Amino acid sequence: MAKPRRTKILATLGPATDQPGALQRLLAAGVDVVRINLSHGDVEDHRRRVSEVREWSTAHQRRVGVLVDLQGPKIRIEGFRDGPVQLREGDGFTLDAQMGAEAGSKEAVGIAYSGLPDDVVPGDELLLDDGRLVLRVDEVAGSAVKTTVVHGGELSARKGINRRGGGLSAPALTDKDRRDIATAADLGVEFLAVSFPRSAADIEEARQLMIDAGGRGAGIVAKIERAEAITAADEIIEAADAIMVARGDLGVEIGDAALPEVQKRLIQNARQSNRAVITATQMMESMIENPIPTRAEVFDVANAVLDGTDAVMLSAETAAGRYPDRAVGAMDRVCREAEKNRTVTVSHHRLDEVFCRVDETIAMAAMYAANHFAIKALIVITESGSTAVWMSRISSGLPIYVLTRHPQTRGRVTLYRGVYPLEIDPEQEDLDALKSRLLERLSRQGLLTQGDHVVVTHGDSIGSSGGTNTLRIICVDDYLNDTSISKS
Ligand code: PGA
Ligand code: MN
Repeated sequence: MAKPRRTKILATLGPATDQPGALQRLLAAGVDVVRINLSHGDVEDHRRRVSEVREWSTAHQRRVGVLVDLQGPKIRIEGFRDGPVQLREGDGFTLDAQMGAEAGSKEAVGIAYSGLPDDVVPGDELLLDDGRLVLRVDEVAGSAVKTTVVHGGELSARKGINRRGGGLSAPALTDKDRRDIATAADLGVEFLAVSFPRSAADIEEARQLMIDAGGRGAGIVAKIERAEAITAADEIIEAADAIMVARGDLGVEIGDAALPEVQKRLIQNARQSNRAVITATQMMESMIENPIPTRAEVFDVANAVLDGTDAVMLSAETAAGRYPDRAVGAMDRVCREAEKNRTVTVSHHRLDEVFCRVDETIAMAAMYAANHFAIKALIVITESGSTAVWMSRISSGLPIYVLTRHPQTRGRVTLYRGVYPLEIDPEQEDLDALKSRLLERLSRQGLLTQGDHVVVTHGDSIGSSGGTNTLRIICVDDYLNDTSISKS
């Protein structure tokens, strides 16, 4: 069997994956985590999609993580009386918080966010429709923001607004988001992504709401997509379980040319802080229409892998594109090839730090052993998955297999680079029988052979979180000869 791909693939579900058989083809092409985007569709669509993903996982004995992405306070214009308008450079155009939702014209349009007049001053530049149109603020008069068109073009209903440099201060969680968090908890998803957070407090609030709604086990993903989130990156990373480099909105606020450096820095910071990181948006954009990616897209995905990202994400390519499973196939190919280039051979990860937990110490000791002895794989018996997360922050090129009795932990580790959940419930048998069964299975799949050594970590008893205190190095041969195998 081919070596498993280390970088994980996230694919957004949508109308294109609702076609008969499309979701099954998409998952079979190698998706590790699906994204449910709450900016589109209704609750019943999302519920059906999640249950179809779960059915597929059960049938194929491969857990696929589910990430619910909140819409967040994306600031949008309202609609137009007679359809889209053409704005020309030099025209005056007003954004008015008091205007009717469908009353827009060539001269003015409503805005759904009533705080806009307080957030802008003359001279500010407002970017509409991901920066395709630019307006310069001349004057704020009551509820009206009067502007001059700097870059014109067609403007249609409900397009987003950003300010160059950031600073539109709508709170991160809207009333819709609060309702959607309850739905996400009810669906038992593994990840909740918070859109447009400004600070750690926004992440903490989302986490608390998720816990209150009964979704305790879910990881919180902070989408870095505002200029303020770059300034507050350290505290946001600390408060979250994972971050998303959300290049779409972020590029509008900080300028597209600033993105490559920011992406590299965020990936490095997240890993260093024991957090996961997703690189997102326009990675295979041309595959919305075409069956193969451009050379530039191939380089973009490969470069994210070399930067050390845990996962690469597909948005409209899979949700609304013509070739959803081919887009996954293209990412799969490119990731595998890029992974052959081991960029880091010496790791300084947390080398100068003092660990304050026994389980983290075991995880780090395991990686030290693995990197200095001929270890072929790590096997982690865990409750929360933390041990595997710590291990995977060190780039070792080795597979980390996770055994846990919690389906949600299996679902969460799908996001981490080089970490693979195994569909075996460790509670079913004693530790030695478990090791035999596992090593036999990995050998049968060609992932281990005679003479190989593996590291195993676990606690004194299966079932206590944070209890990992044991590191063992075992030789495959000792377990393959075990009578428990010949009997089965
Ligand atoms: P979105 O977020 O797809 O929800 O807009 C990602 C991004 O902005 O890049
Ligand atoms: Mn966004």
